[in-house]
Amino acid sequence: MQRVRVVTLNAALGPLDYRVPDGMNVEPGSVVVAPLGPRQLIGVVWEPERLQTEEVGDNRLRPLVSVMTVPPVPDPVRRLVEWTSDYYLAPPASVLRMVLPSSAALEGPRQLTEYAPTGQTPERLTPQRKKALAGIEGRQGTIRELADHAGVSDSVMRGLMNAGALGPVQVTADRPLACPDPDHSPPDLNEEQREAAASLAEAIGNGFDPVLLDGVTGSGKTEVYFEAIAECLRQGKQALVLLPEIALTEPFLKRFEARFGCEPVAWHSDLRSSQRRRAWRGIASGEAKVTVGARSALFLPYPNLGLIVVDEAHEPSFKQEDGVQYHARDTAVMRAKFEDIPIVLSTATPPIESRHMVEIGRYRELTLASRFAGASLPEMRAIDLTQDPPPRGRWLAPTLVNELQANLERGEQSLLFLNRRGFAPLTLCRNCGHRFQCPNCTAWMVEHRLMHRLACHHCGHVMPPPKACPECGEEDSLVACGPGVERIADEVAELFPDARTAVVTSDTIWSPLRAAEFVGAMEAGAIDVVIGTQLVTKGYHFPNLTLVGVVDADLGLQGGDLRAAERSFQQIQQVAGRAGRGDKPGRVLVQTHDPDAPVIAALVSGDGPGFYEAETDARREAAMPPFGRLAAIVVSAEDPSEAEGVARRIGIAAPQVEGMAVFGPAPAPLAMLRGRHRQRLLVHAARMLDVQDVIRDWLAGVEWGPKVRVSVDVDPYSF
Ligand code: ADP
Ligand code: ZN
Repeated sequence: MQRVRVVTLNAALGPLDYRVPDGMNVEPGSVVVAPLGPRQLIGVVWEPERLQTEEVGDNRLRPLVSVMTVPPVPDPVRRLVEWTSDYYLAPPASVLRMVLPSSAALEGPRQLTEYAPTGQTPERLTPQRKKALAGIEGRQGTIRELADHAGVSDSVMRGLMNAGALGPVQVTADRPLACPDPDHSPPDLNEEQREAAASLAEAIGNGFDPVLLDGVTGSGKTEVYFEAIAECLRQGKQALVLLPEIALTEPFLKRFEARFGCEPVAWHSDLRSSQRRRAWRGIASGEAKVTVGARSALFLPYPNLGLIVVDEAHEPSFKQEDGVQYHARDTAVMRAKFEDIPIVLSTATPPIESRHMVEIGRYRELTLASRFAGASLPEMRAIDLTQDPPPRGRWLAPTLVNELQANLERGEQSLLFLNRRGFAPLTLCRNCGHRFQCPNCTAWMVEHRLMHRLACHHCGHVMPPPKACPECGEEDSLVACGPGVERIADEVAELFPDARTAVVTSDTIWSPLRAAEFVGAMEAGAIDVVIGTQLVTKGYHFPNLTLVGVVDADLGLQGGDLRAAERSFQQIQQVAGRAGRGDKPGRVLVQTHDPDAPVIAALVSGDGPGFYEAETDARREAAMPPFGRLAAIVVSAEDPSEAEGVARRIGIAAPQVEGMAVFGPAPAPLAMLRGRHRQRLLVHAARMLDVQDVIRDWLAGVEWGPKVRVSVDVDPYSF
C-alpha cells in the first residue's frame, strides 16, 4: 500500500496522511483532491519525512480522490513553503495557499467565449460606441477585457454586441502568451551600466548569487537588470520581477514592452479571475517567461526560474502585515537559494540589513554612481521653518512658494511630498476640545474633503462630515488640524489659481490603470504641480519635473521606532530622486523645524555614507537588527480583559533563555485595531538564537480560548 502525506489548502489543518488507490500515480508535489469527512480538499503531496503529523494506522487511511492535471509543485517551492512556515511560524497550509491561489486555474482549461468586431457599423453610433469601436479594432477578448481596453463600460460593449457590431469567437484553449524577445530593442549602455549588466548576465545559470544593485536614482538600474532578464530568456529560463506597489505595474509593463517587444505576465491583487487563471497556468507550465508582480508572486510555482529581481528593495511594503507575516525581500532571497539562482536587490537607498550582508560578504554589490546621460543629482536645501515660517493657516514657506512660482513660469513641473492622505489628520471642537476618534481603533478620523467624509486609515470606518460637535452640540466650532495632501492642494490652488494640480495617493491611484492615466497626464504636460504621498516617491521618471518640496520632513521622525530615521532618509532621498532626471537640473527644498537633526543634515550635505554608518553603529551597540533579533507576540481580543489575561499568562510562561529578553506585555502601538484590543510582548534575542524554536515551545505551553488571537511577527518591520 502506498501512503502519502498531504498539505491541504485548509489553514486550520495540519498535514494529513492518505492511501493512494491502485492505479493512481502520484509523486511529491502532485496536486491532489483528498477527502475530509464529507468534504473534498485540494492539497499537495509531500515527502513524509519532511513534515510531521499525527500518526494514523494504515487501516484508518482514506484513499485520495484524484490527481489534478496541473504540473506538480516543484521541489524548491515545497522547500520554500517549509522554510516560510518554520521561519515565520505560520501553518504550511497558509503558505501553500499563496502557491496555489487560484482554484479556477487548477480546474483546467475552460470554454471561454471571446468577442471580436464583426465589421458591421451599428445604426446608432454614439460617441461612446465610436470610442469603443476604435479601441477594439483588430482585437478579441471577453466583454470585460474589450471594455477595459477601450476605456468604456461593459454595457456599451454589450450594446455593440446586441447591435451586431461585435460577434462571439469560441475559444477553447488558452491563448498563447506572447514571448519576450531578448534582442527586440537593446539599449546603448554606458560603461558603468555595461559592466554591471555583464556581471549580472554572467551570473545567470551559475548558481545562487545575491547581488545588491546599488545605483543612484536615475542611473538606469532597470536597464541594467533588463540585460540579466535578456540573458535569462536566451537560456530559456523564467524571470520574476517583484515591485513594491501595484501602481507601478502599468508603467513597468510599458517599459518592458519597449525593450522586449511584448508585455510580461502581471500578477497582483487587481487581476480579474480570468487573468489570474491564465497567468497562473502560464507560470506553472513554464510558458510565462517573465512575470512582474507584487510580493505574493514570489510563491508561484515557476518550474524553471533563472532570476529574481526585487525592485525598490528598500520599500517597507515588501513586508506583509497580515496573514502570513513575511518579508518578501528576505523570502525571495531564500527562494533564490533553493532554486540555486541569482537574485538582484535593486535600490538607490539600500536598507541597513542589505548593506550589512554586503559587509559580511554574503551579498556582492554592484554600484552605479552617476545618473544616466549626464543628468546631475538634484541640489538639496533645508528650509528652517522657525526662520522662514509660512503665513498663519498655511503650510508652504515663502521660499518654497517662490520656487513654485518660478517653476510655473518656466513651464516646468513640481512635486510636493507629504506622507499624509486626506485633508486633515484630526478634527477638533474648538468649544469643548472633542476630537473625532475611530470607534474601532486607537486612531483619529481623517478628514477626506474630496470624498466628503471622515475615514479611519486603519479599519476603513467612515462617517459623514459632522455639522456640529456631538459632545457639546456647538455648530461652527469644528476645526481641521494639520495638513494632508488635499489641504496642500487647496493652498496651491489659492496661491496659483491657474496651476493644474493633481493629488496622488492610494485614494486617487488605486489601480494600475489609474496610475497609467497619471503617468500619461504627467508626460503630456497636463499637470503642473503634483501633491503626493509616498506613492509618488517610487520609480517614476518625469524628465520635466525639476522641483521637489518636502512639506514636513519631521513627520517621519515622530514615534521613534527603530527604523524611523532610516525610513525618513530613504523616503526623502527617493522623492528627491524624482527631480531633475532629464536635461534640466533639479532642486529639492526640505521644510523642517530642526535642520540640525542628523537625518536632515546628512541629506542636505549629501553625506549618506556617514548617516548609514552612524545608524549602523547605533544598531550594533543596542544589538538591534541585523545585529540582534526581534519578534513581536500580539494578543488580541474584543474584550480587553481577555487580551490582557492571556498576554499576562504568556508573559509569565516566558522561558529563561540565555541571550533572550522579553519586554511587556504592554498595550500594542495601535492599542485597539478593528475593534480588537491588542497587547504586545516584544522578544529581543541574540542573532544566533533560534528564537522561532523558543517561541514555538513557549506558546505551546499556554492555552487560550477561541475569542483570543495570538500572532507572532518575526522580524517586525516597525514597532
Ligand atoms: P533608476 O531605476 O536607476 O532610477 P531608470 O532605469 O529608471 O533609473 O533610468 C532612468 C532613465 O534613463 C529612464 O528613462 C531610462 O530609460 C533612461 N536610461 C537609462 N539608461 C539608459 C540607456 N543606456 N539608454 C537609454 N536610456 C537609458
Ligand atoms: Zn478604525
